[in-house]
Amino acid sequence: MQRQKIIIEGIVQGVGFRPFIYQLAERFGLAGSVGNDTRGVTIEVEGEADDLAQFVTAIQDEKPPLAAIQSLESETIAMQGSTGFSIVQSTANETRRVQIAPDTFVCEDCLQELFDPGDRRYRYPFINCTNCGPRYTIVTGIPYDRPLTTMVDFPFCAECQAEYDDPASRRFHAQPNACSTCGPQLQLVDGKGQSLVAEDPLSEAVQRLKDGQILAVKGLGGYHLAVDASNHEAVQELRRRKQRDEKPFALMAKNLDVVKRLAHVNDDESRLLQGVERPIVLLPKRSGHNLAENIAPANRYFGVMLPYTPLHYLLLQDDFEALVMTSANLSDEPIAFENDEACQRLGTIADAFLIHNRRIHTRTDDSIARVMSDRPLLLRRSRGFVPRAIAVPGKSRSTLAVGAELKNTVCLTRGDQAFLSQHVGDLKNLEVYDSFKQTINHLQSILEVQPERVAHDLHPDYYSTRYALEESGLPTVAVQHHHAHLASCLAEHGVEEPAIGVIFDGTGYGADGNIWGGEFLIGDLGSYERVGHFRYQPMPGGDLATREPWRMALSYLQSTYGEIPDGVEIFDGIAKSELRLVTQATMKGINAPLTSSCGRLFDAVAALLGLRQKVSFEGQAAMQLEMLADPAQTRPYPYLLSDDADQIIFDPSQMIDAIIKDHLVGLPTAQIAGRFHRSLAVMIEEVCVQIRQKTGLSLIVLSGGVFQNCLLTGMVLDSLNQSAFKVLTHSLVPPNDGGLALGQVVVASSLNP
Ligand code: ZN
Ligand code: ZN
Ligand code: FE
Repeated sequence: MQRQKIIIEGIVQGVGFRPFIYQLAERFGLAGSVGNDTRGVTIEVEGEADDLAQFVTAIQDEKPPLAAIQSLESETIAMQGSTGFSIVQSTANETRRVQIAPDTFVCEDCLQELFDPGDRRYRYPFINCTNCGPRYTIVTGIPYDRPLTTMVDFPFCAECQAEYDDPASRRFHAQPNACSTCGPQLQLVDGKGQSLVAEDPLSEAVQRLKDGQILAVKGLGGYHLAVDASNHEAVQELRRRKQRDEKPFALMAKNLDVVKRLAHVNDDESRLLQGVERPIVLLPKRSGHNLAENIAPANRYFGVMLPYTPLHYLLLQDDFEALVMTSANLSDEPIAFENDEACQRLGTIADAFLIHNRRIHTRTDDSIARVMSDRPLLLRRSRGFVPRAIAVPGKSRSTLAVGAELKNTVCLTRGDQAFLSQHVGDLKNLEVYDSFKQTINHLQSILEVQPERVAHDLHPDYYSTRYALEESGLPTVAVQHHHAHLASCLAEHGVEEPAIGVIFDGTGYGADGNIWGGEFLIGDLGSYERVGHFRYQPMPGGDLATREPWRMALSYLQSTYGEIPDGVEIFDGIAKSELRLVTQATMKGINAPLTSSCGRLFDAVAALLGLRQKVSFEGQAAMQLEMLADPAQTRPYPYLLSDDADQIIFDPSQMIDAIIKDHLVGLPTAQIAGRFHRSLAVMIEEVCVQIRQKTGLSLIVLSGGVFQNCLLTGMVLDSLNQSAFKVLTHSLVPPNDGGLALGQVVVASSLNP
């Protein structure tokens, strides 16, 4: 006989861990106790040594689905001769190291009950248990306990209370536990908040969707706008009202079988779709699907997710194969999440509102992921993933990082863990900026840390930078944009050694004041050196060039030929006077900042091939180029690498010339686009070989928004693997600016722990 003390850290509170331990102790006939404390869960058990050993193994093997064990320490202590096993109550201020769990899709057990006519929660849209349901979005403070969630509005009925108090119940200490007697209720209302039906709002909502209406549906982290995905007119009307011309809409499909009829799904992708996080997964469309074509026009992919709340299951169950479920906002605004606000802001978009009275405390968008080169890759890390910790090298003082300006996220560290926030959005929008500040405060409060410094981008005009410098009141650390991308990928892999960073994106403020974006760096978490880049190119009209790719096309034509060559007709849609003005201004260097951006080269090539002269969202032209490119192209276009002050400069003039010639003789656009991608891959390999010769480094990091491009990334990995490089790519955090804040915290921490 012996007694052991076991301390477990990680996501172990609010996920059914104590009842799990209780049942396990009973199974092995052990006496003792389990309780929550400042670090996580502490267990004391006594019994036969054999049983104790099996008990510890079982903890790890059978832990509840939402639990994540970061560490498990055990030591033998003096026997106390306990009898029986008990759960000891936690005290209020004993939760310092504890982590809040992310929101999770409704579990199988709850689903069974949801559709069981004999169950007391039959068709109750807010069913949940310790293994599933809302978490992060309803938490208002620490410790994670019902009074500090938005469930405080709903006093338990006797039955729910009994489940909550019963260690044998799946709902023991399930803070959002509820039933139709005591819990949140659905309502169907109009834009003024007036109730539309007295009974059964759900079937009325379904009927309206069937009739082609647009419904705002309150979900876990915010509102969706829903329409029947097979109804072309309804989708078109949604586009018109939402002022969204072409950007693809996300789909929610009834089940995996339906998804497989809409799109090609491999094993990795189906795992990702069915994961507890339930992200939107980008999947190659199948021909012959019976959904409206205008859901994702000019796009090879559908963004599909499976239902994740009981309400979603109820909506889709009988009547729809798939619904369009797009974040409820006007372009650029943050996702709506409060009832009054939703009715107000979405009044012109939605015909009716399916709402409920469980408040959302923290707005959280759907996460977006894809499988790239056999690994999951998060493109937007938000609902379901936040606030899960990311381990970072070395313990250091708490650091806040405020991220970039677009696709903003923030990051806060506690010890050797980094907490990257949900997707915040484009800070130029005032409401998004408010939500940025709330997110910072909320993270500090639920993690119970006060940052001692703030890391920010070099860009002086980012709202996040201004917040750091003018409002945070903390010592600041400026981190160069592309160094942050490099560090973010290194940190994700727990790598501290130096690497070659191939960092390609649209825009990042350079250390020389120019706009960088096609960068070859060498560096580690603490420092970097720029060893190569795309040749600087004027960006006619500055920021305007990101929305009007014809400007970059013009810029490349000017620097390649000095003028617009005969036969090039791509500027037909542009007023002659505007074209002349921009041409002259660019030659004189007026309002034409210099950029080494790879994203802008993609824009230029897309425009030169006549794909599009203007875009309605960033990266649209590049995406279209990727979509239509023929992946089988193996022959690169010519290009020039030159040396300038020890930096390797990539000059694409010969490539532009060859592309124009191919285009003018009428070669297929798919072939040209494929060769363009291949050329970049071959060029990257050649540059990296040169850098390896100079530095001896053979570890490579691929980061920056350009590496969301599956085709390019695949080609680059092929080339680099052939040259025996070891290559790190993103998986846990996005390669785009949504992952930047993680890089910023690790750079700041490594400079001065
Ligand atoms: Zn459940
Ligand atoms: Zn109840
Ligand atoms: Fe970037």
